[in-house]
Amino acid sequence: MLDISRILSSRDPGEKEFHQAVREVLESVAPVLERHPEYRREAVLERLIEPERVILFRVPWMDDHGQSRVNRGFRVEMNSAIGPYKGGLRFHPSVNLSILKFLAFEQVFKNSLTTLNMGAGQGGSDFDPKGKSDHEVMRFCQSFISELFRHIGPYTDIPEGDIGVGAREIGYLFGMYKKLRNEFTGVFTGKSLDWGGSLVRREATGFGLVYFAADMLAARNQSIAGKVCLVSGAGNVAQHTAEKLIEMGAKVVSLSDSSGYIYDEEGIDRGKLEFVKRLKNIRRARIEEYVDKYSQATFVERQSGLDYNPLWNLRADCAFPCATENEINAKDAVHLTANGIGLIAEGATMPSTPEAVKVFLDKGILYAPGKAANAGGVAVSGLEMAQNSMRLNWSQEEVDSRLKMTMKRIHRTCLDAAAEYGSPGNYLAGANIAGFLKVVNAMLDQGLV
Ligand code: NDP
Repeated sequence: MLDISRILSSRDPGEKEFHQAVREVLESVAPVLERHPEYRREAVLERLIEPERVILFRVPWMDDHGQSRVNRGFRVEMNSAIGPYKGGLRFHPSVNLSILKFLAFEQVFKNSLTTLNMGAGQGGSDFDPKGKSDHEVMRFCQSFISELFRHIGPYTDIPEGDIGVGAREIGYLFGMYKKLRNEFTGVFTGKSLDWGGSLVRREATGFGLVYFAADMLAARNQSIAGKVCLVSGAGNVAQHTAEKLIEMGAKVVSLSDSSGYIYDEEGIDRGKLEFVKRLKNIRRARIEEYVDKYSQATFVERQSGLDYNPLWNLRADCAFPCATENEINAKDAVHLTANGIGLIAEGATMPSTPEAVKVFLDKGILYAPGKAANAGGVAVSGLEMAQNSMRLNWSQEEVDSRLKMTMKRIHRTCLDAAAEYGSPGNYLAGANIAGFLKVVNAMLDQGLV
């Protein structure tokens, strides 16, 4: 594996998030490579770490004061061995090539686990939608897609949302794409229900995450009902994770955004969650306002100097990180396990550092890596694509039951692959191995392309 590390550091220096994601998979698949020397002979790892295509472009747009602005746009088309490129768009000031390559690389294994035919990609921009008017966001989206439209299509590359890209942005992107192409196709997923979206897509990542956690607990004869749960983030994934946890009888005591976290010991109920949804999705305000409305709760502001996040030092049974990458470090992991956390299920992509993951695995607690546990979102995106192709809409029950089935299947697949390759009960090894096998076998079938 040394040669792969060498390639990474000489060809992609400084891409630390990408290196982190690759190293994690390399460690997991070592026993597979030992059993299958043909994979090394055919250089599948060298091929997997090199995107099939990277598109980088200028995004000029005008703000409300008539000032011209320029951002950078990206699309990383990572791997199309098992289907057209599929993955999110992220609009956040931290976006760079390393972040998008790590997200696209994770997406390869995640999409493979869904059992649907979806390759992997990821794109976005360093544009910050925070504090921008709807008109500014629309002008930015129109400029962004007026370049990207020539590289995507329903049989080529089908983007969806991620951080900073929700229903509003998908609407603006799709509208301009349709105008430029003069065709109405399922080129994006996460569309609104009235114009080609699927029921349950908006909720799918969070709902699927809780289904996966419930399956893990059931495998140990436990139930999610009555469990005290920490949730981080307050966006799409966090909101729907909290919603499903509440529905299944758990008690959600926290939410957060980039300014800090709120702790509500009494539990966030449906009414309080509705308040959060309005706060975040309509007023686009800060989570701190929760405590103005519910005064028994506390708000703890984020302190950039701290080397741990006090959110992960609260007492609870389960933790659902749903904000962003590397939000749990080793110190946080020690706090979580010392406080009796028995399950970590990742809604965000790569929210735990490698050192934190090691703490979880050493302590033997239930740990669900994001690429398995949050795959429900892209799985329902696959169902949205299927419905678009058939020009049909499935009912809420139909989509939800397919989502539940998919999460169960991924859960089983992870356990089986982990057991087969000598790490029984290790969901991380299982997810990486099962995701890897399907993609590399397809790559070998298709020759050196
Ligand atoms: P949203 O933009 O809807 O919400 C993101 C949330 O995380 C916000 O509360 C945001 O706070 C917070 N956040 C973002 N960046 C940071 C940061 N650097 N530090 C602290 N908090 C931060 O995004 P999603 O809910 O869609 O995505 C959240 C995570 O889930 C991401 O890791 C994404 O890759 C992953 N994911 C999403 C899927 C989906 O279907 N949407 C599918 C699979 C994975 P603030 O508002 O202050 O920025």
